[in-house]
Amino acid sequence: MTVYSGPVFEMAVNQFGVIADHLSIPVDERARLLMPKRAITISCPIHRDDGTTAVFEGYRVQHHLTLGPTKGGTRFAASVDLGEVAALAIWMSWKCALVGLPYGGAKGGIGVDPSTLSKHELEALSRRYMQEMIPFVGPHTDVMAPDMGTNEQVMAWFMDTYSMYQGRTVTEIVTGKPVTAGGTLGRREATGRGVAYLTRRVLNDLQIGLSGATAVVQGFGNVGSIAALELHNMGVKVIAVSDHTGALHRAAGLDIPALVEHAALRGSIAGYSNELATDPREILMLPCDVVVPAAMERVIDADVASKLRCRVVAEGANGPTTPEADLILEQRQDEIFLIPDILCNSGGVVVSYFEWVQDLQQLFWEEEEVMRREYQILDRAFDRMVARARRDKVFNRTAAMAMGVERVRGAKDTRGLFP
Ligand code: NAD
Repeated sequence: MTVYSGPVFEMAVNQFGVIADHLSIPVDERARLLMPKRAITISCPIHRDDGTTAVFEGYRVQHHLTLGPTKGGTRFAASVDLGEVAALAIWMSWKCALVGLPYGGAKGGIGVDPSTLSKHELEALSRRYMQEMIPFVGPHTDVMAPDMGTNEQVMAWFMDTYSMYQGRTVTEIVTGKPVTAGGTLGRREATGRGVAYLTRRVLNDLQIGLSGATAVVQGFGNVGSIAALELHNMGVKVIAVSDHTGALHRAAGLDIPALVEHAALRGSIAGYSNELATDPREILMLPCDVVVPAAMERVIDADVASKLRCRVVAEGANGPTTPEADLILEQRQDEIFLIPDILCNSGGVVVSYFEWVQDLQQLFWEEEEVMRREYQILDRAFDRMVARARRDKVFNRTAAMAMGVERVRGAKDTRGLFP
C-alpha cells in the first residue's frame, strides 16, 4: 500500500523498474531507493478579494536525504496532486545525482490555477504555503525553487516569509529568487539556456548546420521561451510554438524576440497573430530538426512518438514522454536523438545550486562565470551519458537514469542502513 498514485507516479515507478532491472538491483533494495523519505500535505486557507475564504491543498515530497539537503521546484497548477509531486521529486533525485550535485530530490506544489488568483491572493497563498512548510524545510534540509506556475516573485515571497519567522534574512532557503533579493545572475535563463546549449551540441554531432536547422517548441513559459530565444539567437529557425492558449506556425520562422516581448506583456502568446494560429496538437509532429517539449508531462505518447518527424527531441519539461512512447523512441534511436529530461533541463538545478552556494558564502559571481560553469557541468554529464549509452548499448534515457540511480545507490551503500 502506498499513498502515491496516478499516471505520473506510475511512470516514475515504471522507469525505475527498467533501470533497476538493467543494473540488476536486488528486489529487496529497490523500495529503499524508490520510495520518498517524507511527504507533507497541508491546507492553505486564504482570504479572497471578495471577502470569502478559500482553502487550497499543498504538498511537498522529499525523496531522499542521503547526499545532502533535498532540492526541487514548487508547482502551482490545477493538476497538482501528491502522486505527481512524488514522481517529480524522484526524477529530481536522479537528475541531481547525474550532474553531481550534493542534493536529494524534492518537489512541492499547490492544486491551484494561478491565473484565477489576483496578485494579492497569489501572495497570500505563497506566504501561507511557506509558513506551513517551515517545520519541514531549511537551507540544509530542503531548498525550494520555481516550477510551472511559480516565478521569481513567488520565490521572493517564500524567502521573505521564512526570514520573518527566523528573525533574519535567510536568502539560501530558496533559489530562483530575483537578483535584487539574493538571487544569482543567470538563474532565470539557466534551464532554457541549457536546453539550447545541449541541442546545439547534438546538432553539431549530427552535422546539421545551425543556420539551416528548424525547431518546434511546446510551452512558452520560463523554459520554452528562453530555449526558443537561445535557439533563435544561434540561427535556428523556430517554426512553431505553443502554450496553454494555442499555437503559432510559420514555415519561414517566427519572430521569437517579438513573441517573447508579447508574452512578457500579455502573459501568453494569445493575441499575437490570428493568421499564424494552428492546431496545438499538430505542432510536435511537424517536419523539423528539433522538438522541444517544454510544458508538461506525458505529451509525447505512443501515437505522437510514432509520428515525430524530427532528428532531436530535447526534453525541456519533466516527464514529457510516456514509457510506451519511450519504447518507440528507443526503436527509432538511429533516426531521433533523445536528450532526456534529467539531463536536458538540468541547467536549472545546476544554477540553483550555484545560487545556494553564493548565498551561503555571500560571494556573488559574474554571469559569465555562472554560464561557463553551467555549460562545463552539462558537457561533462552529456559526454558521460553518450559514452555509457554506447558502452552498454542502451537508450540515452536508460544510460542517464542508470548513472543517477547508481550514484544514489552507492551513497546509500557506503553510509549503511540506520540503525
Ligand atoms: P511556466 O509556468 O513558466 O511555463 C509553462 C508553459 O507551458 C506556459 O507557457 C504554459 O502556457 C504552457 N502550457 C501549459 N499547458 C500547456 C499545454 N497543454 N500545451 C502547451 N503548452 C502548455 O513553467 P516552466 O518553469 O517553464 O516549466 C515548464 C516545464 O519545465 C515543466 O515540466 C517544469 O517541471 C520543467 N522545468 C522547469 C525548470 C525551471 O527552471 N523553471 C527546470 C527544470 C524543468
